[in-house]
Amino acid sequence: MSSTSQANEFLSIRNPASGDVVGSVPSLSPEQVAAAVARARQVQPEWAELGHEGRGAILHRMRRWVLDNADRIIETVVSETGKPRDEVVLAEIAHPVNAFGFWADVAANALSDEDVTSDNPFMEGKRLLIRHVPVGVVGVIGPWNFPFTNAIGDCIPALAAGNAVVLKPSELTPLTPILIAEGFAECGVPEGVFTVVTGTGQAGEALIDQVDQVMFTGSTRTGRAVMARAAQTLTPVALELGGKDPMIVLSDADVERAANFAVFSGMQNAGQVCISVERVYVEALVYDEFVASVVDKVKSLRVGPPTANGVSDIGPMINPAQADIVADHLADAVAHGARVLVGGEVDGRSASRYVQPTVLVDVDHTMKVMLEETFGPVLPIIRVESEREAIELANDSAFGLSASVFTTDPARGEAVARQLEAGAVCVNDAQVNFLALELPMAGWKSSGVGSRHGIDGLRKFTRSQSIVVTADGPQREAFMFPYDADVTAAIMSALKEF
Ligand code: NDP
Repeated sequence: MSSTSQANEFLSIRNPASGDVVGSVPSLSPEQVAAAVARARQVQPEWAELGHEGRGAILHRMRRWVLDNADRIIETVVSETGKPRDEVVLAEIAHPVNAFGFWADVAANALSDEDVTSDNPFMEGKRLLIRHVPVGVVGVIGPWNFPFTNAIGDCIPALAAGNAVVLKPSELTPLTPILIAEGFAECGVPEGVFTVVTGTGQAGEALIDQVDQVMFTGSTRTGRAVMARAAQTLTPVALELGGKDPMIVLSDADVERAANFAVFSGMQNAGQVCISVERVYVEALVYDEFVASVVDKVKSLRVGPPTANGVSDIGPMINPAQADIVADHLADAVAHGARVLVGGEVDGRSASRYVQPTVLVDVDHTMKVMLEETFGPVLPIIRVESEREAIELANDSAFGLSASVFTTDPARGEAVARQLEAGAVCVNDAQVNFLALELPMAGWKSSGVGSRHGIDGLRKFTRSQSIVVTADGPQREAFMFPYDADVTAAIMSALKEF
């Protein structure tokens, strides 16, 4: 973390499972954020000069470091999120371990100079190439739901591309990024190339003003503010925002598999996942069977603090404000006629509160729980009469992050997937596209701008430079002044041949 020469206010970090204070970090001023970016700008060329091989070796070392320090990372993530330890292993160790190796290996191929050929006769005899040049300093602004995977996850390709990175984590979960910064330093990332600046949204705003590229993950509301701020300096932004992911269960589905995915992908991390299943549309023929199976599974979920591996399934809400949103969505749904089949309570067991995993039926698209991002362990289910109705309702949303379809006919599943307005669709699966870093994750509609993962998820951290080299040109090209009617006629007839 950047050193602070000025007096700072401090932010207390609380464990949402217990309410205990587990750490405190300085709330940096805009001037301190600017100083961190200036330092990053100074050292970035040194990092870029290491080349893909040099940076790749360090990122591979980081992969090992994460495995060697997994216990400390798990403790830290758990201390500031309260989430089940098993979930940390799945989402916050396995994913980054893969990501460090992946981006290190992919960068060399994806960012090497590209020789290009052109059919345009004016280009004859010239050498054309595209370079992918690091933008300089990337500002990453991260959310609280996955302090490693979602905050550091985007720093890895930005670093692999040769940039310095300044990360502003959520004020609720800065401890994990600070620990990872320790790892970067131990593995050989030069001082200043990766910096964590702690603070509130004000620090985020200051970061946007200073950097060459912004990578933001968070709510759609804040994403709009980030884009507006970046417009002042014409700084490019990539936004990974909220979702309201639909699941469609068709009449020929394996109902048991679909029910397991609805419960797991709707409720893991207590539903605080941008790609959570947030609404389910089930064809009438299998509706009763599906609902009964989901209710049964949800009743058996264990809600509570993560005292050891395998003791709880649902942790607390990390952000108290999010628990209020969930409570509001539940109250609104019930007031408008929804029935709670299981759960429904937001209890006061800790400072941050637990939401009992909840299944709702008799819901419709006038209710907040079907329209806005709930971001809690809540599964509203609607009975539909046809595949067409399911597709129409799934697309009736301001969001378009991802979606899932369940059917035993893969061709039918793919045909439905192609009609859904979402950046990623899984057939007989959910969320799993996130694990394939080769696949772009690009939210449609209000779910995002730009792409995370895939080649574009790396190249967005670069500027392209096109170079045209003419080694052996005449002193005067034929098309130059003075214009000559014969030359123009020759060009015209060549165009007709083209
Ligand atoms: P927020 O949008 O509130 O905050 C995200 C980050 O932005 C935090 O670091 C926050 O700082 C910072 N921030 C707040 N205000 C500003 C500002 N004006 N300028 C710059 N930065 C600012 O999101 P949450 O942390 O509440 O995350 C939950 C939301 O994020 C959910 O809606 C969820 O869907 C979405 N999300 C999307 C993901 C995706 O990949 N598409 C992944 C994860 C979450 P501070 O915390 O200090 O206020």
